[in-house]
Amino acid sequence: MKKTIIGYSRLGREIPLFHSGRGDAAVLIIGGIHAREHITCDLTYELWRMEGKNTDCIPCLNPDGRAVARGEERPRIPFGGDVRMWKANAFGVDLNVNFDAGWGTGARNVIVSGPENYIGPYPESEPETKAVCDLIREKKYSVVVSYHALGEEVYWGFGPNCRHKEEAATYAAAIGYPLKKSVGSAGGLKDWYCNNFPGLGLTVEVGKSEWGHPCPENKLKELLLKHEGSIGLLERIGGKIARENDGSGAYAG
Ligand SMILES: [Zn+2]
Repeated sequence: MKKTIIGYSRLGREIPLFHSGRGDAAVLIIGGIHAREHITCDLTYELWRMEGKNTDCIPCLNPDGRAVARGEERPRIPFGGDVRMWKANAFGVDLNVNFDAGWGTGARNVIVSGPENYIGPYPESEPETKAVCDLIREKKYSVVVSYHALGEEVYWGFGPNCRHKEEAATYAAAIGYPLKKSVGSAGGLKDWYCNNFPGLGLTVEVGKSEWGHPCPENKLKELLLKHEGSIGLLERIGGKIARENDGSGAYAG
C-alpha cells in the first residue's frame, strides 16, 4: 500500500492517491468529484482498502467542495443557498463538466460560476481536473471508474466511443444496476477517458434516489454490501483489457 499526492486543490488541500499491488495498477477508481456526493469518498476508499489488489484510488478529487458541502469551508463565490447541496469546487466550477470532451456542449452546462454545472473558463482549468488527467495520461489505466450519487445506474462510453460494452454490462449486472449510455451530458471524466484511451470508462451513480442529497452517511454499510466484490471484478476486466491492448500489463499507449 502506498499513498502519493497527485496534486492540490485550488485552496491548497492535498489530493491523495492510494495504490495497491506491485506494478502499475490496471484500475483507477475515483470518488468525490461532486461535493455533496461525499459518501463516494468513504465508499471508494473502503472498497479499495478491503478489495484492492491491483487498483489505484483517489477517494476525493474535490476536497474543497467536500469541505464546503460539509459546512467546513465557505464558497469563494457569492452563494445564498444550502451549501449541503453544493457540487462544484470552492470557486464554483463543476469539475465533472471541466474535462476536454465535448466541453461546453452539455445540455445543462452554464457559463457562470455557481454550485453546479459551471464548465470553467477552459477545459482542465481547475487543478483538481488537471491532476487526475495528468495521472491518467501517465498511467493509462485499463479501467477508470468515477463514483457519483445517486440513482443506482452505470453509464459507459461517450459519443461514438463505446468500447467494452460486454464488460460494462457484466459489472452493472454484478452490482444490480442498469447499464445506460448518457445523453445530453459532456465534459465529464468518463467522457474524456472514453475519447482518449482504449480502456473501459464508467460513471457509477450509487445509492437510491429516494435517499435524497446529500446521501446520508449511515448508508455507507448498505453501499459497501451492494458493491462487495466489485473491485475484484473490475481488476479481472482491467487485466483482460490490458492483455487485449498490449499483451502484457496496463495499456502502453
Ligand atoms: Zn455527481
